[in-house]
Amino acid sequence: MERAQRKVLILSAKSEFREGDSVEVLTEENTFRGTIMPGRERFLSLKLNNGYNMGIEKDKIKEVRVINRMKAVKEQKRPARERKSLKCIAVLHTGGTIASKVNYETGGVSAGFSAEDLIELVPELSDIVNIKTELVSNMMSEDMNFSNYRKIASAVKKQAESGVDGVIIGHGTDTLAFTAAALSFMFEKISIPILVVGSQRSSDRGSSDSAMNLVCAAEFIRQSDFAGVAVCMHSSLSDDKCAILPATKTRKLHTSRRDAFKAVNDKPIAFVDFVTRKIEFLKTDYHKRAPGVKSKDVALQDGFEEGIGLLKVHPNMSKGLFEFFTGSYKGIIIEGTGMGHAPTNTEENLPNFNILKRFIDNGGVVGITSQCIYGRVHPHIYTNLRRLENIGCVFCEDMLPETALIKLAWLLGNYSREKAVELLPKSLRGEITERTTAENDHGI
Ligand code: ASP
Repeated sequence: MERAQRKVLILSAKSEFREGDSVEVLTEENTFRGTIMPGRERFLSLKLNNGYNMGIEKDKIKEVRVINRMKAVKEQKRPARERKSLKCIAVLHTGGTIASKVNYETGGVSAGFSAEDLIELVPELSDIVNIKTELVSNMMSEDMNFSNYRKIASAVKKQAESGVDGVIIGHGTDTLAFTAAALSFMFEKISIPILVVGSQRSSDRGSSDSAMNLVCAAEFIRQSDFAGVAVCMHSSLSDDKCAILPATKTRKLHTSRRDAFKAVNDKPIAFVDFVTRKIEFLKTDYHKRAPGVKSKDVALQDGFEEGIGLLKVHPNMSKGLFEFFTGSYKGIIIEGTGMGHAPTNTEENLPNFNILKRFIDNGGVVGITSQCIYGRVHPHIYTNLRRLENIGCVFCEDMLPETALIKLAWLLGNYSREKAVELLPKSLRGEITERTTAENDHGI
């Protein structure tokens, strides 16, 4: 009875604990430590110390002990002072985990993203560069469409024409590589560095990679002569360096590790040492900035054909899928097995072959890539593949399926069908490596 009264007292008395307080919550079975979040009726929402959120049924709580009160005073923001001697970069925010933090007033992970907020989050940035910020969108990257790419590109163009020395694009990690590839096709000759940066863990977690990824990106822009689009992400399990990765050859290869991003069939452009701040280039054939030249009129080709599909091959595939894809799209990238195979050979699967042939005869474009990730497709090793080549399927060498999807959409959005078919298997932005070598074969 005494315990029940105490519980009611603690849970009903608002003054006992408040949102933002660091607390210990005792239930019959467990003790949870974390920060009180704005909660729902029957549940107490807690951000655990390991970064995860959990809801604890209020009826099951025996006691809530306040360990630390949230500071009642409004946080003081460090002003973003402009220093003439430093380069100026624009940080475009599109959403995702990077640079988002828990907002105890609204209860969600949100992105307060003025220059001041960013400097507060990553104070070292203001010693490296002057920062301008722009909120382009605030979305998770799995929701991105081609219209979002156009919005990002137009913000990049505007910033580049205003004379910034580089642009950092904060982006959700899931489809970050697609956006990097899209930007790289859209901007052929951009004369400043454009780095797409994400973070696997949000900034309120001890193991967050957002600060280090942003600092390394800013250092790379400050020190290097690189021009063009690239990705900047953690490169190992420790907090030692970030990799600058080629925009069209990069893939997220792990769901949660901070070093999830790797160059596939290619090598990183450079590493940025977070401790010494030294840049080590692995490539020399990148586009270089012409010193002192400001971009007045940045060329942007931002057409994208909406009707493009990515078809992943698997056993027991239904004919309906081929019908659906060829009926719905103008261009299809097939993510084939091995060297680029699709179920088109047996009597049962021959209809798939005929559907593809009809589609191409009627003006559709089919690009062939491999789901192996590493290595390249080849039409001349197996007879089955030669048959696909003979009906007009385009073998995309060692291009990633994701890059091929973006590239085909971009090609059909800006060129005729004939030109798109001609350019698909040619390397325009480093998306195809000429030869597979021991160095780029197994980048993991
Ligand atoms: N799903 C999220 C996104 O891609 C994950 C992240 O932000 O890293 O936007």
